[in-house]
Amino acid sequence: MKTAEIRQKFLEFFESKKHTAVDSAPIVVKNDPTLMFTNAGMNQFKDIFLGNEPAANERVVDTQKCLRVSGKHNDLEEVGVDTYHHTMFEMLGNWSFGDYYKKEAIEWAWELLTEVYKIDKSRIYVTVFEGDKDDHLEFDQEAFDVWKNLIAEERIISANKKDNFWEMGDVGPCGPCSEIHVDMRSDSARASSNGRDLVNHDHPEVIEIWNLVFMELQRKSDGKLIPLKSKHIDTGMGLERLAMVLQGKQSTYDTDIFVKLIDRIEKETGKKYGFKSSKSDIAIRVMADHVRAVAFAIADGQMPSNTGAGYVIRRILRRAIRYAYSFLDVREPILYKLAEELIALMGGFFEELNKNSNLIIQVVKEEEESFLKTLARGIDLIEKISFETKGDSISGQVVFELYDTYGFPADLTGLILSEKGKSFDEKEFEAELEKQKNRSRKAANQETGDWIIVNDDQGVTSFVGYDSLQTDLKIMRYRKVNQKGKDLYQMVFDRTPFYPEGGGQVGDQGFIQADGAKIPIIGTFRENNLIIHLTNKSPEGVNESVTGFVASDSRKLTAKNHTATHLLHYALRKVLGTHVEQKGSLVEKDYLRFDFSHFSKMADEEIRKVEIIVNKLIREDIALDERRNTPMQEAKDLGAMALFGEKYGDEVRVIKFGDSVELCGGTHVQRTGEIGFFKITSEGSVAAGIRRIEAITADAAQTYLFDQIDVLSEIKGLLKSPGNPSKSIKDILESQQKLTKEIEQLHREKAGSLKDGLVKSIQKINGINFIAAEVDLDAALIKDLAFQLRKERAPLFLVLATAEKEKATISVALSDELVNQFNAGNIVRELSTFIQGGGGGQAFFATAGGKNPAGVDQALNRAKEILSES
Ligand code: ATP
Ligand code: MG
Repeated sequence: MKTAEIRQKFLEFFESKKHTAVDSAPIVVKNDPTLMFTNAGMNQFKDIFLGNEPAANERVVDTQKCLRVSGKHNDLEEVGVDTYHHTMFEMLGNWSFGDYYKKEAIEWAWELLTEVYKIDKSRIYVTVFEGDKDDHLEFDQEAFDVWKNLIAEERIISANKKDNFWEMGDVGPCGPCSEIHVDMRSDSARASSNGRDLVNHDHPEVIEIWNLVFMELQRKSDGKLIPLKSKHIDTGMGLERLAMVLQGKQSTYDTDIFVKLIDRIEKETGKKYGFKSSKSDIAIRVMADHVRAVAFAIADGQMPSNTGAGYVIRRILRRAIRYAYSFLDVREPILYKLAEELIALMGGFFEELNKNSNLIIQVVKEEEESFLKTLARGIDLIEKISFETKGDSISGQVVFELYDTYGFPADLTGLILSEKGKSFDEKEFEAELEKQKNRSRKAANQETGDWIIVNDDQGVTSFVGYDSLQTDLKIMRYRKVNQKGKDLYQMVFDRTPFYPEGGGQVGDQGFIQADGAKIPIIGTFRENNLIIHLTNKSPEGVNESVTGFVASDSRKLTAKNHTATHLLHYALRKVLGTHVEQKGSLVEKDYLRFDFSHFSKMADEEIRKVEIIVNKLIREDIALDERRNTPMQEAKDLGAMALFGEKYGDEVRVIKFGDSVELCGGTHVQRTGEIGFFKITSEGSVAAGIRRIEAITADAAQTYLFDQIDVLSEIKGLLKSPGNPSKSIKDILESQQKLTKEIEQLHREKAGSLKDGLVKSIQKINGINFIAAEVDLDAALIKDLAFQLRKERAPLFLVLATAEKEKATISVALSDELVNQFNAGNIVRELSTFIQGGGGGQAFFATAGGKNPAGVDQALNRAKEILSES
């Protein structure tokens, strides 16, 4: 059974059990500061479990794109080394939100595996939670009893908290679980040892495929467990591992999708896959795996970059390039070809891959090109360092610098050094790394206290900020957070006029006013479905009704920039084409920033065209057409440009200004005329295939224009014919160029006649041509002259000095055959004492500077003595 069919059967099975199929949430997490990437199917349902949000459907089924490369679930170092962990994988899941519980969850899992997929029952083992003293948790008798009716008792294994108690993070929803393991070993291997003993022992062929989590508890920040309001079912089965079982393979990399990717790697590199634990096999698995993670992340809008989630993606990509470089001798971009293969394989189900295929391929290719260059440069540097270091051990600090500054991985440095019989001080390297980690840990440090409930809250905060900037509200709960040593408070209200940061638009600021207490709001953002208001003043004791006031000037300027962003997007597609898609944006009160897909620099005329279109739309004074709570399909029919994947169940808000139609939760002007004026201030590249425009509107645009005009007026005032300033400036530049040339020519002529004079002044001392003179030339010409004379008048002993107001120089030049006898550096040092300075140089030419021009004559005399005395 092919992977695509396995996925389909899972969805259909649970649909037949009255589950609603929903889409995977994006792999990149937008609204949860505690998570960078989706790492489990339950992430998108977290608020339902916690009771912060009602469930739209009690039973749901899906396949979720997961990425486990950071935070609590990080499998990166396993991937490629073992044969069943991936960075990006699909987690199939069925969900009950306060509906069915353990019995159905277990029975349906069994039915699906044994009757639909027809897995051999004699290969299956299951685990149940044994309980835990510290947390006062009992053995999971209920799950055990259900399993006992389905499977022989000796196939049920009790397991401890580490394996059978699922927790999302340090705090949050959690509960006991029951896992299903499959023994994929050969018959003979199975006959010789009991699979039961291999469960949960990291055996590559006795693996966990499905985890059924019974979500009924919540871990608080003090470590205590409290019951959730309802009990839920959360299951997760790795599609790749299920495919491995159903296709009778010993590794997920031998299943249909990976076989295709590996074939392509073999073809491109000329290397064969199949020795399983060899370095080259690991490298091939790393490549096949990582290209999926990177492609899916880019498709969901996460470009590789130097910070945050983008940096994690860049590191994954680089890990693949590094393995290919070190173990498969790859020197040219190759992953982008794999990306192409992957899109063909998986784009059928995940249409975001097809939609972004050009972008994915282009970005991967450019990242590869640039990192391969880094690698080459790093290798040169290591050669140099290793050449310069005496002994066999290179300092760990140097290796850390290579890693930190050039992104050059330490293990690769080690490999290159070992080829030269050298190594580096790993302890020192680790110590540097640890220091850096501490630095960033400190920077990111946030301690979060438990929520203190002020008013009992069932529902979700209603956002009233589209219609008013001021409203009465109640504080429902608050908690203390400590950020970088500062105490702050997060508050949730029943209703709020404060816009939470999102869709590129900054969060609102302002204040809330209670009787006698004014509490500033210094930021507003979302954590999943909670709207969180940040303040630096404790709201303790404030429980009567209060009024919230949004800082309205900022909000209004921000709205102008937000609407202008939509008009800009529209105009860009008109001018450049429909391949232009939004890839990111920032909307603030002072300016707007818009990132979009486009492959070349915009020409000046294109930028001007865009500005003209946007300003025309502004002058047309188009009214806002806002449609809240529109079903996704209806929005698409209206021609709305969908942004990055939306979450399941989202009703969307459509913002229409004439022909510009977007899905958007941001705040906008009522009529485009309010924007006043729009001006692009810069256009450039941010990543491969992504351009960035910065622009301003309204007051800022006016100030910008006035400043420009002022500069122009000032220039005109300085010019003789202000009617045509650019022609005047061109004329000035041309004449300046001409004058410079003439001056150079004069200098050359002067040096020429000086040279004649110097030649005439030659005295023969001890058979050597001696010249000593004060000249009026700059340093470069002196050097030039000295070098000419050295060649033409050997044997030559030349001393030239300059004297200005408070500055003197001396240059000494010797022709080659005198260098054994004299040393220009030593001579110039001696002479420089007369001009109260110092200097040095080579044995045949040296210079000195000093502050006593009066000493020049004495210096020249002394030079003559030196030669005469020799
Ligand atoms: P393991 O112990 O094998 O790492 P886990 O306990 O971390 O698994 P869960 O968090 O329970 O796994 O996730 C549910 C299911 O997702 C697992 O049973 C497995 O099938 C799949 N899974 C988990 N991690 C990965 C991974 N890195 N690659 C592929 N599949 C995975
Ligand atoms: Mg794991």
